Amino acid sequence: IDQPCYKMSHGYDSPCNENGETCPKLDAQTLKTTISHLHIHQTNSGPQKFKVMAMPMDNGGAMEMHIPLDDVTSLDGVTGLTNRAEGEQGARRLVALMQRLGTPYSVIMLDLDYFKKINDQHGHHVGDIVLRRTAEVMAESIRASVILVRWGGEEFLMILSGAQSEHAAKFTKTLLDAIRHIRIELRDETLSVSASAGIRAVSSEELSHTNFDSALKHADLMLYAAKNAGRDQLVVYKECCT
Ligand code: GH3
Ligand code: MG
Ligand code: MG
Repeated sequence: IDQPCYKMSHGYDSPCNENGETCPKLDAQTLKTTISHLHIHQTNSGPQKFKVMAMPMDNGGAMEMHIPLDDVTSLDGVTGLTNRAEGEQGARRLVALMQRLGTPYSVIMLDLDYFKKINDQHGHHVGDIVLRRTAEVMAESIRASVILVRWGGEEFLMILSGAQSEHAAKFTKTLLDAIRHIRIELRDETLSVSASAGIRAVSSEELSHTNFDSALKHADLMLYAAKNAGRDQLVVYKECCT
């Protein structure tokens, strides 16, 4: 998701696919899924990095959002993912847009299991390697989707646009499988990890009376439920609470 999609910088108003760059708007239109890429635009104040997100519309077109990124401060130093300060802004913007468009979305909170043990047994450095590898796996699987943020130490926030609970659960299950398959080769041992996830899918009907904060809180509660149920699993809000 956070790989630059440009080959050369292009002007803010010029089409982004002229120099071989990926064009989120065209891709969103063609693939009928949300697309998110980094772009460098030539602006009046010099080159600036933008996260360009495009969402397919019911009428066959696509809507594009440009989120200015501060090169240094918006990315998390350990994983290279969007950091919390920047990610929370992006998440709020996206949710506001979803509400305006009447599009359902899902908030997913994912946390590595027993991560403290990895640090304690193998050192902080190995913990960082596990974090980076996990972030990589997540970034690969969320390629065609929307927001992925390093929310806390070993906690990640994702927002899928247009995702009903079934889709979000399926996506998250695949992600937990992929994380479970991570292997970190140490000198005399091979490490593996697992993660737990909480999901809050906000349906079209719920958009008007569910804001980002409550959706986030629900996802967080479901994450705790997944931890309490033994970890290495996901819990969906609807299943447990309505
Ligand atoms: P649970 O299964 O309940 O989630 O247990 P846990 O051990 O994963 O969770 P806990 O919150 O007890 O521990 C999280 C640890 O993550 C504690 C903290 O030192 C470590 N941590 C936070 N940020 C980083 C980081 O950037 N690098 C490394 N290596 N460790 C980190
Ligand atoms: Mg944890
Ligand atoms: Mg945690």
